[in-house]
Amino acid sequence: MSMQERIRSVEERIAAACDRSGRKAEDVHMIAVTKYVSLDTAREAFNCGLSNLGENRWQDAQEKWLALSGGEQASNDGKPVWHFIGSLQTNKVKDVIGKFTYIHSLDRLSLAEAIHKRAAQLGINVPCFIQVNVSGEESKHGLQPEELSAFLDKLADFPGVRPIGLMTMAPYESKPEDTRPVFRALRQLRDEIRATSAHAEDLIHLSMGMSNDFEVAIEEGATWVRLGTTLVGKEEE
Ligand SMILES: *Cc1c(COP(=O)(O)O)cnc(C)c1O
Repeated sequence: MSMQERIRSVEERIAAACDRSGRKAEDVHMIAVTKYVSLDTAREAFNCGLSNLGENRWQDAQEKWLALSGGEQASNDGKPVWHFIGSLQTNKVKDVIGKFTYIHSLDRLSLAEAIHKRAAQLGINVPCFIQVNVSGEESKHGLQPEELSAFLDKLADFPGVRPIGLMTMAPYESKPEDTRPVFRALRQLRDEIRATSAHAEDLIHLSMGMSNDFEVAIEEGATWVRLGTTLVGKEEE
């Protein structure tokens, strides 16, 4: 399949999932995760209209970022909007903040503090998703759901960090339907926290759903889906 055909097919599947759940397709945004593909393929994806690109490691993203965004501030017109979706080491914050517009993996206060300091130096604030480990798998990063409220209260000390939503990863399931409880739980957590926390008024978005399970995630309220394999493909090294 060509890139155009893959994009068309994913858009149709998103539209169908929105229809099934009474949602508007324009409320669901796609991130093209380019971590498995070359610079040329990432450029093709961008040129085909995929303006939001996601990477999970700065070391691997660097070449693509430099080529496509050329050293200036991220999110200018005519350049990709970059999403950092992988776990972020504190010592990489200086590389990533200012280049990646969105951080999807805020999972600890020490990281919030580092992002805040770097953001203050740059005179920006950084929209962040708080990663929550809903499935309870030990291998997954993220706060425990019951830690979220206190975490949000403490984030108020770091105004360079702007919490805009929650992110989770579901375990891989051979039947995507089996991921539904994880996505539903993240949505319920967002709804609860917005109703009860003084610091949650901007906590609107849900970053959830990958190639295997994005349709279920959309039915459960995803506003950002992170798609690698099914959208831009996977190339061998
Ligand atoms: C790799 C990755 C994705 C995309 O994976 P696919 O299954 O190829 O769509 C999404 N989110 C995160 C956090 C990832 O690391």
